[in-house]
Amino acid sequence: MDVVSSEKRSAMMSNIKSRNTRPELEVRRVAHRLGLRFRLHRRDLPGTPDLIFPSRRTAIFVHGCYWHRHFGCKYAYNPKSNVEFWQNKFQSNVNRDLRVRRELENRGWKVITIWECETKDQKMIADILFQKVCDAAV
Ligand SMILES: [Zn+2]
Repeated sequence: MDVVSSEKRSAMMSNIKSRNTRPELEVRRVAHRLGLRFRLHRRDLPGTPDLIFPSRRTAIFVHGCYWHRHFGCKYAYNPKSNVEFWQNKFQSNVNRDLRVRRELENRGWKVITIWECETKDQKMIADILFQKVCDAAV
């Protein structure tokens, strides 16, 4: 039996490219509190990053653990039915993420992924932003 009901799954499906999700809002809230200047969803950049910090040429993607396959994460579980279908779908998501990262890096951007499971803890978000956006020790 799948862990998620089909109803929930279709909601998750439709969330793949949705914006302004709870994890995104958490990251923005913390970035704002830290006084970092950011912009949202720049469509002129590959992959339309969720946040960018223009002065630091840094882009952030806030990724759902399930859809983007957070390695080793309990939320990146495998569906029990239609296995091949889902594996293909996951693989194309992962491939796209890699391609987008490379394109941004080729343009001189630093790319950071924040996983949904990490956004449950504001201290963890703050640590990630400090270390990876500000290049500061925590
Ligand atoms: Zn995760």
